[in-house]
Amino acid sequence: MTKHIIMKRISFYTFGCRLNQSETASIQNAFEHSGYKLVGFDQPSDIVVINTCTVTEGGDADTRHLVHKVNRQNPAARIALVGCQAQIQKEQLSNLPNVRWIVGNGRKMDLVSVFNEYPKPETAQLVMPSIEREPFSVQIASIDHDHTRANIKIQDGCDFFCSFCEIPYARGRARSRVFEDIFKEATALVAAGHKELILTGINIGTYSYQDKTLMDVIKAMNALEGLERVRISSIEPTTIARDIFTYMSAGHKLCRYLHIPLQSGDDEILQEMKRKYTVDEFSDFVRQAQVQVPQICIGTDVIVGFPGETDAHFERTTELLRELPIHYFHVFSYSPRHMAKSRLMETLPVEMIQWRSQILRDLSQRKRRLFQESLLGTIQTVLFENPKGDGWQNGLTDHYVRVKIKDSRNLFNEILPVRFKSIDGQVVVGELVT
Ligand code: SF4
Repeated sequence: MTKHIIMKRISFYTFGCRLNQSETASIQNAFEHSGYKLVGFDQPSDIVVINTCTVTEGGDADTRHLVHKVNRQNPAARIALVGCQAQIQKEQLSNLPNVRWIVGNGRKMDLVSVFNEYPKPETAQLVMPSIEREPFSVQIASIDHDHTRANIKIQDGCDFFCSFCEIPYARGRARSRVFEDIFKEATALVAAGHKELILTGINIGTYSYQDKTLMDVIKAMNALEGLERVRISSIEPTTIARDIFTYMSAGHKLCRYLHIPLQSGDDEILQEMKRKYTVDEFSDFVRQAQVQVPQICIGTDVIVGFPGETDAHFERTTELLRELPIHYFHVFSYSPRHMAKSRLMETLPVEMIQWRSQILRDLSQRKRRLFQESLLGTIQTVLFENPKGDGWQNGLTDHYVRVKIKDSRNLFNEILPVRFKSIDGQVVVGELVT
């Protein structure tokens, strides 16, 4: 008689940043290697893992809503909440229905063992060890068969303690991944078919392992056979080595793309935020990037409504963003975070924050459009993604411009030259150059 082994079904949901996405991919692969069956988030499963984020108040509420949704759609599932919000708000989360594990960042990557240690908790089991400062390795590669690009974690934590941010409390102090371990994962990701790798972390410019820096990681990626593109995720302005631009030129693999958080365009507010640069320093860097790397795409983050932000402060931020060669911004409406120093400061009226945020979001849209228009008529290489079945093929350039072409073939994971013809909403329409 054939014995049927019933595999436990597990599904995942990720909130927040690229680093969280990279970590979820590794954790998922670890469960698959351990005999669990991965299922889609909307399918019935025995265990649901939610990798949480606590960067905004909205993110906190999203977790609670999702837990209630899982309980409605999948009432038999047991839920694990892991990551940043789990770390900071363990008590508040532990009363949510069917939550059986709350796992902080110190054990999140080791979730398979956590489940082996606590297989069937009746109530929320808190697993919250202190977070080590030592260099780390990642056991399982973050291979992601659904996407052409893969995120690769090189660093975690932060020592900067900006006054609005609780990341140093949620993720601990800065630490870097063992250099050889990054290279090992990168080789596995390329062997699995990934043509673009995105170096991720919390404060990747502070990467430091023995005598190696971020530039050494970039050089190693540049030399990795089979890899076509390497991209750096968000990087703090004061941590970028100037020779980075050399690796964004022809014959090198580093994408012509930088995401550098500005947060405010006013020196007084920057000081209150405990940021480590002035408006002039930031502006000089951005202008230099534009000169040294023609067509570079530069994005930024900006926080609107930080305590004490007057109309004049806000206007200076708006003016700066209008003037600088910055091509899009992620706008965050300020909300006080549980552990951040600025939570003790008086907040501005919500309506004012929303109104100012909208002004910057509109400006960002116009600037993105101007950047796209500046590329019309040029030929750019596009890495194509999974087709949606609507006859259009979608992909991204190295400077992160989304492009679509009409083509019925499946071009998934191919890098091809495309001539930019027109713009449709947020997307450039092009045609293949044959
Ligand atoms: S640099 Fe500042 S904003 Fe970024 S993670 Fe560190 S403390 Fe938070």
